Amino acid sequence: MVKLNGGKKKILHSHMEINEAKKYLRQHIELFGNEIYAPINDNCIKKSDNFISFHENLNSFRASIENCENCNLSITRNKFVFGSGDPDADLMLVGEGPGAEEDSQGEPFVGMAGILLDKILKAIGHIRGNNIFITNIVKCRPPENRNPLQSEVEQCIPYLVKQINLIEPKIIVALGKVAGQTLLKEKMLIKEMRKKTYKYNSIPLIITYHPAALLRNPSLKKDVWEDFQYIRDFLKS
Ligand code: URA
Repeated sequence: MVKLNGGKKKILHSHMEINEAKKYLRQHIELFGNEIYAPINDNCIKKSDNFISFHENLNSFRASIENCENCNLSITRNKFVFGSGDPDADLMLVGEGPGAEEDSQGEPFVGMAGILLDKILKAIGHIRGNNIFITNIVKCRPPENRNPLQSEVEQCIPYLVKQINLIEPKIIVALGKVAGQTLLKEKMLIKEMRKKTYKYNSIPLIITYHPAALLRNPSLKKDVWEDFQYIRDFLKS
C-alpha cells in the first residue's frame, strides 16, 4: 500500500508492481531524500509510472462480479447495476436497489428518483460523476420493486464494502430506510436515523430520505435540503 499526498491510498497487487514501485521510490529517495512529492491531481496516475489506477481497480472489480448468480435476483435482472461515477469520489451515495429503468440501462438512479437526485446535487453545487459515486445496497432489481430480502442483502453487501474500500469516500450518504438500516444494522425509522453522523467501517455515514420518498411526499424536501446542506459543508471541510 502506498499513501500519497491527499491521503488517498493506491493498492499495488502483483509482485512486479510492488518491485517497480520500490524501484521508483528508491530512485526518488536518491534524488530527493526522504521527502516524496507525487502529483496526484488526476484520478488516475499513469500506468507508465507503475501505479495502478483507481479506474482499473474498480473496473476489474466490476468485471469480476457483474455475472454474479449468488441470489435469485440474477434470474430476473436484465442488467447488473454496479454503480457509477468518480472512482476517487469524496461523496458516495447508496440507494436501495435498481428500479425498472436502472435494470434496463445498467446505471443507478436514472429514473424519476434519479432526476430528482441530480437536482438535489445541483442545488449543493455538485454534478453526478464529479467527485460522486452512486451505487445501491443490492446490484440487481428486486422484482416489482419490492424491498430486497435479507438473504439478498447479505449476498450483495460484500460488493458494497469492496467498493467503499476501493473508493475511500470522505462521506457515505445512505438514501432511504433500506440503505440506512442495512448500513447501520439497526431497524430504525429514517426520522430517528437522520441528523447524526455515524461511522461505517470508519467512514462518516449520514442517512437521509430516499428521493423517491420526496416524489411521494414533497413536504420531506425541507429535511432533505437541510441534510444535503450539511453534506455540502462536510465536503468543504
Ligand atoms: N432507487 C434506488 O434505490 N436505486 C436506484 O438506483 C434507483 C432507484
